Amino acid sequence: MNQMNSRISILGVPVDNITIADAVARVVAYIEQGGPHQIVTVNPEFVMEAQHNAAFRAVLCQADLATPDGFGLLLAARRLGTPLRGRVTGVELTQRIAELAAARGYRVFLLGAAPGVAEQAAAVLTSRYPGLWVAGCYAGSPHPRHAPFLRQLITAAQPDILLVAYGHPAQDLWIARNQPALRIPVAMGVGGVFDYLAGRVPLAPTWLRRLGLEWLYRLLRQPRRWRRILVAVPLFTWRVLRAGHKT
Ligand code: UDP
Repeated sequence: MNQMNSRISILGVPVDNITIADAVARVVAYIEQGGPHQIVTVNPEFVMEAQHNAAFRAVLCQADLATPDGFGLLLAARRLGTPLRGRVTGVELTQRIAELAAARGYRVFLLGAAPGVAEQAAAVLTSRYPGLWVAGCYAGSPHPRHAPFLRQLITAAQPDILLVAYGHPAQDLWIARNQPALRIPVAMGVGGVFDYLAGRVPLAPTWLRRLGLEWLYRLLRQPRRWRRILVAVPLFTWRVLRAGHKT
């Protein structure tokens, strides 16, 4: 399933050197081919989690497409001598997928986030992309005991694209565990994208994102994240600098 034109590695985690247009083309190809595919949107927190979570690392390595979501990945890639062409964020790719789905009649299922959020996100997407066919929305839970019911629900809805918002690593592990039975052409973990689309969590201002300080904004907005971010950002930077020194 892994046919990559250009794939780099950041601390052992694969990342595809693609643009947003390439990613959209890949989505079309997956739907035309049929069969199960998984997309992961990699950021420094993913890379750090993968250092100690072997199951998550395996999922990231097996994914059909690993987009460079975090700004930190671009800096890391340059430092490691394998620069990336740009970012492909989960938010942007979700919106492009919705646009594509509206134009081509692909069916999209939104799984995850707090009750009601997926529905709100779907309403925003259908108003922005008229003709979008939302096959279903459901909050549910990533816990394995709920999986049989969720699989039934999703299979009955027959989506071409499944977006899963359980946060990493849960959402990506959930997709990997359930895709052999679901066989959805495109399944992607989207983290907080539904929260953002539903207007519950604003995106950082453009100037902060340009400076690569999105993590700082998220830290201030969502203090519960502080531990994860304060561990991931400096540790990631340190590990990359050390790895870059050896290359
Ligand atoms: N979430 C959920 N069930 C869970 C854990 C998380 O629905 O058991 C949702 C949560 O409501 C939010 C998303 O998953 O919408 C996680 O967003 P976050 O921005 O934290 O994603 P991450 O950056 O961790 O991938």
